[in-house]
Amino acid sequence: MHRYILPKGMRYATLAEREFFYRREFDLRRVKEWLTPFESVGHVVFAVIMGRHTHIFRREYAEDADATILIENYQNLEDMKAQVLEFLPESVYYDRNLYNLHGKVVGQELAFDLDPENLTCPIHGTLEDKMRRHQGLGFCETELKMVKEETAKLYKRLEQLFSNLRIVYSGRGFHIHVLDEETLGWKRRERSRLAKKLTKEGFLIDEWVTSGGMRLIRLPYSLHGMVSRIVLPLTVDELPDFNPVTDKRCLPEFL
Ligand SMILES: [Zn+2]
Repeated sequence: MHRYILPKGMRYATLAEREFFYRREFDLRRVKEWLTPFESVGHVVFAVIMGRHTHIFRREYAEDADATILIENYQNLEDMKAQVLEFLPESVYYDRNLYNLHGKVVGQELAFDLDPENLTCPIHGTLEDKMRRHQGLGFCETELKMVKEETAKLYKRLEQLFSNLRIVYSGRGFHIHVLDEETLGWKRRERSRLAKKLTKEGFLIDEWVTSGGMRLIRLPYSLHGMVSRIVLPLTVDELPDFNPVTDKRCLPEFL
């Protein structure tokens, strides 16, 4: 088992720290605000991964530590939180698919995922170089800064296409969510076409996420258990000065 090398101050959260965070700090009011645009459209499904990357998990769940566990049946967000406290996961996601009461998909949120490991770092090289050293998910402060600049560039480009965008610091990189209503109904083909077009233009994005192949996205205000950072929505104006290594808004109390 290889431990990922991370920027100074970022580290795996322990089970006790995850519990402390979800019990005391997890801000359901903000989670609810984040999900408000989807409420009128469909039912949101959540998901957790307990210990796939950190290998830290509750012993009784060892068999499912690597699995993606869906939280589909919950009464309200308090109930969702209770389930998260049971699993004490390294990661919490929500499904960008929206479902009606019969479980039929009625739409999908369009999103872009930018991760630091996909950049070529002047110090650590390409993703391939990093994988050779078993550091596929590791990253450094230079890569963080580069991925932030990429996010700002992509945001500017997306502003030409859409009117309602939101940026989220994901714990490692950044996500850009598109809230324009018409995009919810886009077919897979339209999503793939846009993803391909943007990569051709030189933008760094995970096409698998944008096309809809990967539907899960990190839940804002949850804890990223690999780096001990709170997943944090940001405005585009906040982006240039945002440093996730030191920014108090994304530092959990246990640090
Ligand atoms: Zn690097």
